[in-house]
Amino acid sequence: MTVIKRTMKVTNVIDETQDTRTIRLDSGEFDFKPGQFVMINVECEADGENKLVKRAYSISSPPTKKGYIDLTVKIYNAGLVSKKLYNMKVGDEFEVSGPYGHFTFDENLHKNIVLICGGVGVTPLMCMTEYIKDKNLDINVNLIYSSKTPKDIIFKDKIMKNRHKKTKMHLTITRPVGHEWGGMTGRIDEKMIKKIVKDLHLPYYFLCGPTIMVEETAKLLKGIGIDDSKIKLERFG
Ligand SMILES: Cc1cc2nc3c(=O)[nH]c(=O)nc-3n(C[C@H](O)[C@H](O)[C@H](O)COP(=O)(O)OP(=O)(O)OC[C@H]3O[C@@H](n4cnc5c(N)ncnc54)[C@H](O)[C@@H]3O)c2cc1C
Repeated sequence: MTVIKRTMKVTNVIDETQDTRTIRLDSGEFDFKPGQFVMINVECEADGENKLVKRAYSISSPPTKKGYIDLTVKIYNAGLVSKKLYNMKVGDEFEVSGPYGHFTFDENLHKNIVLICGGVGVTPLMCMTEYIKDKNLDINVNLIYSSKTPKDIIFKDKIMKNRHKKTKMHLTITRPVGHEWGGMTGRIDEKMIKKIVKDLHLPYYFLCGPTIMVEETAKLLKGIGIDDSKIKLERFG
């Protein structure tokens, strides 16, 4: 896939949760595979100087939606770029290059996939599930998504409305106390994965989120005998 570098304009800003927003960009023609990311280059103030700073963001909208790409960003108050991106307004512009990355699936080969994520790590996996739905692909999907509280579930509506024939969504909440929540609770662990995935050795696994979570989950999968070649990781840092 050809890497493109161009200035893109913000056309919409969507509040997802209390600390996460989707920034929609007028991308023009822009080819990418579900799961890939772009590098953005924005001017930020660091150490009293204005500098151009680069960061990676997964594309959260599927390539079946033409003319735009969505980046969904969680704000870190001490962060340089996330703060800038989160506060973008319609009409703002910045440089985007991509697509990059190998966190992708092969729709002809991967007929059974398990997508595991924590927090904002849901972004490339949402792109995958929306793509599979839009193309009506014959792929078995189990998304296992962990959020701190019900208020932190990014793309809750899209997840609830995804009625694709072979896609199942499994949400878990790690801090349920004080919230109304009737679903699964606790971190994604061996017991949870074994309960959801019937034949553990059949699917390909895609893990995305904070480095610690991704690496611990990969270790867990390897520990139950899943071959390395069937596990793909995307670490957000
Ligand atoms: C391939 C890839 C795809 C990514 N996709 C997305 C995406 O879709 N959405 C998204 O929001 N982010 C994504 N990220 C993370 C993103 O690139 C930035 O690292 C993130 O937005 C923080 O950047 P920053 O400049 O604001 O923080 P920095 O200036 O780099 O960090 C400053 C401080 O911010 C805080 N901080 C930064 N990152 C974290 C963290 N992960 N956990 C806890 N505290 C942190 C810490 O206090 C840190 O000391 C992705 C990363 C990679 C590698």
